[in-house]
Amino acid sequence: MFKKILIANRGEIALRIQRACREMGIKAVMVYSEADRDAKYVRLADEAVCIGPAPSGQSYLSMPAIISAAEVTDAEAIHPGYGFLSENADFAERVEKSGFTFIGPSPESIRLMGDKVSAKQAMIRAGVPCVPGSDGALPDDPVAIKRIAKSVGYPVIIKAAGGGGGRGMRVVHTEAALIHAVQTTKAEAGAAFGNAEVYMEKFLQNPRHIEIQILADTHRNAVYLGERDCSMQRRHQKVIEEAPAPGIPRRLIEKIGERCAAACKKIGYRGAGTFEFLFENGEFYFIEMNTRVQVEHPVTELITGIDIVRTQIAVAAGEKLPFTQRQIQLRGHAIECRVNAEDPYKFTPSPGRITTWHAPGGPGVRVDSHVYTNYFVPPNYDSMIGKIIVHGDTREQALARMRTALAETVIEGIKTNVPLHRELMVDASFVTGGTNIHYLEEWLSQRER
Ligand code: ADP
Repeated sequence: MFKKILIANRGEIALRIQRACREMGIKAVMVYSEADRDAKYVRLADEAVCIGPAPSGQSYLSMPAIISAAEVTDAEAIHPGYGFLSENADFAERVEKSGFTFIGPSPESIRLMGDKVSAKQAMIRAGVPCVPGSDGALPDDPVAIKRIAKSVGYPVIIKAAGGGGGRGMRVVHTEAALIHAVQTTKAEAGAAFGNAEVYMEKFLQNPRHIEIQILADTHRNAVYLGERDCSMQRRHQKVIEEAPAPGIPRRLIEKIGERCAAACKKIGYRGAGTFEFLFENGEFYFIEMNTRVQVEHPVTELITGIDIVRTQIAVAAGEKLPFTQRQIQLRGHAIECRVNAEDPYKFTPSPGRITTWHAPGGPGVRVDSHVYTNYFVPPNYDSMIGKIIVHGDTREQALARMRTALAETVIEGIKTNVPLHRELMVDASFVTGGTNIHYLEEWLSQRER
């Protein structure tokens, strides 16, 4: 096992990985920007290295700064967390070329899955169902594009091969709007992702977002850890996640889960990963794979009892998965609310000093957060400051626990979306379960009126 790991991230996930290292007897090196100098997890670290000023381009995204930090501290491996460089194949490659272990899949896997066109083609070959659409990237010829759209059937969605984070997508309802939409998306994709390739999919009207967590080792073992329902989204950003997904028959999950695990073996995938699907009328449609640990991994940890971060580290060190598919049993229900430093009505970011932080607790309540009273939320990064995750024997119990946890939560000095979560936890449709990906936005627009 590794003796020392460098954690190339910040915030709650940096602390989450630090905790896993502690438990495993591994020393953790934290890197931090000048804006995160005072963070408690930095102060509590075995070692900490400042890697640059606040802007992430000069710190958390600086490959040379991170790799030098690993060199000077004699770390053996680098855990990238999520966001930042976690899905950057060039980074993974540089980490390995510099003699460190990248805690994640191979650069080839990241590259294959990072390009949505190649990812989709690989999934079709591996027998994973995909959204009907163009066969690969769209050609230049307008006549050919129109022909493809006609056979897919309107509405269609034009998506950038290199897109991510909900950017680089455009829905088209009529042939009249098609060519202009393709050209605009291409131009935007070229500028934003350095790759102007776009492809076409049928636009599903009312799907749910269901994803499958997988874990794979380097000994040709791959398992799935059930599903998560992440349909509660605003602007393609997940707000609430839960597991299992309400109302989806287990046999459907098992069937798709087995396909995902088989696909991992087929492409030689290692580490943790997530297959994201849209789910409509009883069918799963693959949209993309995330080749890293996800924000919402704790809901899966709570229902399986498996520590995903610990397992990532173990398989990166060459260990075999310590469980087989049959040993993975799902127990109860888990819900996660992402706590963001933002106005709960206007969604404008609300960085600044937290004057009171009172986190909830009690049976079945887990809080993953790096903040504390007097912590300053820097304006430079994502607004998420933590996650409240609950577990119950049933969904009803999990909901009740989340309501209690949110009622106990006191955060003063900055605005947060906790009031929004309190409202959603008593919303009749959410309480029933099974809302689609548009539900939250529609709910928000009703609330405004
Ligand atoms: P990103 O990498 O930017 O997150 P995804 O491919 O995962 O892009 O899509 C993000 C979101 O866009 C999905 O969760 C869904 O809300 C919407 N979306 C993507 N593809 C489709 C589609 N074919 N039909 C309907 N909605 C879609």
